[in-house]
Amino acid sequence: MAPVGDPRERGAIELPSSITVKDLADMLGVNPADVIRELIKSGIFANINQGIDRETASLVAEELGYEVAEAVAAGSTAGSDGTAAETAPVSAATKEQLFEEDDPSLLQPRAPIVTVMGHVDHGKTSLLDAIRTTKVAAGERGGITQHIGASEVVKDGRHIVFLDTPGHEAFTAMRARGAKVTDIAVVVVAADDGVMPQTLEAIDHARAAKVPIVIALNKIDKPDANPDRVKNGLAEAGVVVEEYGGDVPMVAVSAKARTGLDELLEMIILVADLLELKANPKRPAIGTIVEAELDKGRGPVATALVSTGTLRVGDVIVVGETYGKVRALENGLGKRITKAGPSSPAVVLGLADVPQAGDILRVVADEKTARTMVEERRTATAARSEGSGRATLEDLYAQIQAGQTKELRIILKTDVSGSLGAITHALQQLSTDEVRINVLHEAAGDVTDNDIMLAAASDAIVVAFSTKVTDTARRAAESEKVDVRQYDIIYKLTDDISAALRGMLEPEQVETVEGRAEVRQIFKVGKVAVIAGCYVTDGRIVRGGGARVWRGGKVVLTDRIESLRRFRDDVREVATTFECGIGLAGSNNLIEGDIIECFTQQMVSRAAG
Ligand code: GDP
Repeated sequence: MAPVGDPRERGAIELPSSITVKDLADMLGVNPADVIRELIKSGIFANINQGIDRETASLVAEELGYEVAEAVAAGSTAGSDGTAAETAPVSAATKEQLFEEDDPSLLQPRAPIVTVMGHVDHGKTSLLDAIRTTKVAAGERGGITQHIGASEVVKDGRHIVFLDTPGHEAFTAMRARGAKVTDIAVVVVAADDGVMPQTLEAIDHARAAKVPIVIALNKIDKPDANPDRVKNGLAEAGVVVEEYGGDVPMVAVSAKARTGLDELLEMIILVADLLELKANPKRPAIGTIVEAELDKGRGPVATALVSTGTLRVGDVIVVGETYGKVRALENGLGKRITKAGPSSPAVVLGLADVPQAGDILRVVADEKTARTMVEERRTATAARSEGSGRATLEDLYAQIQAGQTKELRIILKTDVSGSLGAITHALQQLSTDEVRINVLHEAAGDVTDNDIMLAAASDAIVVAFSTKVTDTARRAAESEKVDVRQYDIIYKLTDDISAALRGMLEPEQVETVEGRAEVRQIFKVGKVAVIAGCYVTDGRIVRGGGARVWRGGKVVLTDRIESLRRFRDDVREVATTFECGIGLAGSNNLIEGDIIECFTQQMVSRAAG
């Protein structure tokens, strides 16, 4: 359906080899949300600043009623007058695909795809194994099920696909790569243990992805199983099970005794029916890679989960930044198949390189198109790694003004759980008519890479209150370009956020942690001053830099590194594995075992609104 004031009258638009979602929306004169919605239809979850390749952009543009000029670089069959020839293979195929996608009569029900999550040792792996071994879609007898990344099981003739890697970590990592694979999350809670930190994390990760939850109350065989404690724990987390008048189904199971499995599968089917999951098996396939490896004999081997369309032997596919021609397909029994329809996992042979889990697979017209697309994607990735990142507090106001943001999503970590309620409440008070503050996940503890991935997948910022960011999390935040904000004082935090909402955020002091040193010995100098004999454990220590002193997992003071010495010499910096003497500007109450975290700050002005 073309929008008002048929844009086609304006003639064909020309698209660059890569373009951000925002720029594409500007070019088409539509809201970025419309572009994002069209992308989601193809299983692509992009944020507003993300670059997309020309092929994808033209799908969106055409869907929104525009005609797209064939790219000359793609070797089009454009006529001498510069207009795209009607017979250009890619655009002809594209129009056909989109037409099919739009025609509801071509949509067929598809099987649900399920991820199992929950706290460690609550029985995720056991439950998956129990389901797989009793219910696997063996079909032919004698088939030995292989571990290919996803398993298909059958209950009363209905198929359900389980992702083989349990846990919300894998789930969110995939989501951060743009893949939305899971339809339903089964959250396993051990009846003898109750709701634990990772149970809550799993629930928040599933909710952030807007994936419905089914609770599997596992280990019900245990004598100390206490279902009421679990139900209460869940209710406290805002997950009210049906029995308590809520809308979250819960099924008691025992992975060990293999009881309740049928009921769990029935419940999954019930939830799936409400979701009305559908896909068009007749179009060229789009899918997601769930597992991939380099096989010595067979080369790159990847398991794709088809989300829409049908993948066939002989298809030319682009996967992430690699491509190939499907040489063979195999099912979960290691048997050769000729095609895989919606919600079917299939092992794909024939790719040039090993893709990554979470990469999107797409069937294209021919190898030439595939080559061009891969080139463009590589360029887009390079551009993206230099260019803008994900949601930041600095960008917030510009996004509000552009009507692109109605929500500021926050992941909150604090030192103690006692501060959570107060801070969440203070944050929520800041919601305005334009922007709602939505705390996606709150917990006590360090900021971990899970938090970063959740932020990356959900376009959220991370707020760390009096708590530290683990090294791996810091690295992940850098590579995923996630905005992590550290505060020690509540009003500083609320001031910053409300300033960001009003577009008044001061040029920001961006902090870089330079390194850490451990205090090994204290030397008194004169009457009061002390010099700490230190060993640099990672990064570097810089004279003049800030110093945060950690003791017993908490920051006990923040100061400045006033003097820095190697033996008798004053030095500007000291690198990892070297010893040095550190003198702080204001404090002299360091003790052995303290960790001095050295940081520097730079002023960064707000992105232009
Ligand atoms: P995961 O870390 O969540 O994947 O947990 P596992 O599947 O590895 O299970 C952790 C432990 O709980 C193992 O020792 C299992 O044998 C045990 N376990 C799992 N499910 C059940 C169950 O239903 N009943 C009992 N009694 N033990 C179970």
